[in-house]
Amino acid sequence: MKIATFVFKDQRRVGIVANDGESLTLLELPAGESHRGVSAVVDLMVNNGDLEASFGETVSLSDVRLLAPIPRPARNIICVGRNYHEHARELADSVFKDNDSGEPRWPIVFSKLPETVIAHGDPVMLPPASVSSQIDYEAELAVIIGKGGSNIQPEDVKDHIFGYTIVNDVTARDVQMRHKQWLLGKSFDTFCPMGPWVVSADEFVAEDTRVRCWVNDELRQDGLTRDLIFDIPTLIAHCSRGITLIPGDIIATGTPAGVGMGFDPPRFLKAGDRVRIEIDGIGTLENTFVGKD
Ligand code: MG
Repeated sequence: MKIATFVFKDQRRVGIVANDGESLTLLELPAGESHRGVSAVVDLMVNNGDLEASFGETVSLSDVRLLAPIPRPARNIICVGRNYHEHARELADSVFKDNDSGEPRWPIVFSKLPETVIAHGDPVMLPPASVSSQIDYEAELAVIIGKGGSNIQPEDVKDHIFGYTIVNDVTARDVQMRHKQWLLGKSFDTFCPMGPWVVSADEFVAEDTRVRCWVNDELRQDGLTRDLIFDIPTLIAHCSRGITLIPGDIIATGTPAGVGMGFDPPRFLKAGDRVRIEIDGIGTLENTFVGKD
């Protein structure tokens, strides 16, 4: 099941995308719930609600404007740094080097502010050069937490995953490095494109899918999730140690090799660049980067 958040007839709505990707079945959710996007469906299903009872009319996908599936997360997006073997090697000399391979002994975990989230098709705003001149893309598979919990064991994570989506963990590299902690360099306005929708966990094989990213039709990243250093069960176990995860929490699992910073010389984004991310089994997330006047 693919679940999308979108605008239809000037109203924010949630719906189920048909298998052919051409139409949507609207969900008739209680007043106010649609505003929360897919988070409302997560809560409904965590509470054993009857989703089919809310099925409404079917409309064409071309008649809606997609929004990020969770337009405003309830709290920061949890992100994992340097979590593919080849990406760790390409950045081995850059940040937080803690052994020769560049691979961390523990997951590197940081967060992005909820206000960074934008939709497929929305523009990403480049900051003035005085703020940052090193804007980079990071194609990532993101996990949407269903049932909450703390101290979740790796063997139990299936009970806690609602589904998956795509995020672009857009990063200001100079700001990221300068401050050691990554929050600022990762949280500029519009720096978290998300979408195009959420695929439910029962229809997606997260352990073995392909993550690709193009900049202006040039393939830059091409990774397989089987190359994750810390797999998704391990990540959820770490992120829930002493912290209660809640329904709708988002964990971005890290990016494969091929980021702009990994090139020599680095290839950072500029106004007019188009970044397209595809994850097999989910879909396509595309955004254009634009300069501020
Ligand atoms: Mg990242």
